[in-house]
Amino acid sequence: MTEWRILFNPSKDIRALQLSHWEAMDIGYNCPKCGSERASVWLFPDTPMAYIDECCNQPVVFEPKTGSEEE
Ligand SMILES: [Zn+2]
Repeated sequence: MTEWRILFNPSKDIRALQLSHWEAMDIGYNCPKCGSERASVWLFPDTPMAYIDECCNQPVVFEPKTGSEEE
């Protein structure tokens, strides 16, 4: 699982908001390989999101935060 943080909630991406019925939010994270600052739009923050980050072609996995489990 990739550490992430909220950048903008709701997202600043109007199209993403429309697609997701206003659930989308912008998140920031660090590339798992090189640590670069990365950002993405999470359309449905209630469900996990995974893809290959084009920075270093590393898989990233975002899990919804469920409350006080880790923080
Ligand atoms: Zn990278």
